[in-house]
This record gives sequence, C-alpha cells and structure tokens, in this order.
Amino acid sequence: MRLTKVEHIGIAVKDLEKSIKFYEEVFGLKCYKIEEVEDQKVKTAFLKIGDTKIELLESTTSDGPIAKHIEKRGEGFHHIAYAVENLREALAEADSQGIQLIDREPRKGAEGLNIAFLHPKSTHGVLTELCEKPE
Ligand code: ZN
Repeated sequence: MRLTKVEHIGIAVKDLEKSIKFYEEVFGLKCYKIEEVEDQKVKTAFLKIGDTKIELLESTTSDGPIAKHIEKRGEGFHHIAYAVENLREALAEADSQGIQLIDREPRKGAEGLNIAFLHPKSTHGVLTELCEKPE
C-alpha cells in the first residue's frame, strides 16, 4: 500500500481539558477542534503540528476502548494514523498479506475522514489507523 503522510498521532488521556491545557501551555500548540465520536465512545481534541496532528482521546464511558487502554497501560501513546489515497484498496491489500484487520470496511472517524484500524498483533505492536479523505 502507499502511505502519503502521518495523518495524526493518537494519545489516550484521562482528562481532555487538562491535556489540552498542557499541550497549549507547554508545547505551544493550538487546539482547533473538539469532537465526540459516539461510535468509538471517545471525545477527541485535535492540535496541528506542522503537516500532521496530535489527536487526544478521552473515553466517554468507563467501558470504552480508550478507558480499557488506560486501565491496562495508563495514559500515553495509543495509535498512529497514516493517510492513504484509497482506503478500500489498502484494506484489501493488507488482508491479502495476512494482516489482521480490526475494520474490514471503512467507517467514519473524526474530522470527517474514512478510517479503518489494523490490529497491533499484525503490525509489530502498533495500533495502526489508515485514513482517507472522502471525495
Ligand atoms: Zn486516530
């Protein structure tokens, strides 16, 4: 598959407001959007850094995937997201290479992107999101 850039880096946090404050005051980044993705039970905040973004993720429920992640591993790095030109093609290609797909079909993610996750078992331990700008 052909990756075009690091779209964003996902970081699991316990408290979105406090984390935004940290990224703004210490790192001087600017949060330009807060968005809830009901499907994934998360509230996300986006901060631009150069050509890429930081996505902060706070769970909206105690049993959501981010809540579980924090329970097991604490706050911190959660996933990397790469941009691809054609998500369906990329998924079919990964599937044919024996990569374990979390999403077999693209779904709607934050920022209006079509997204799909690859399982960390198949990617040397890194939860990997592929994203595509809808046409
Ligand atoms: Zn993401």
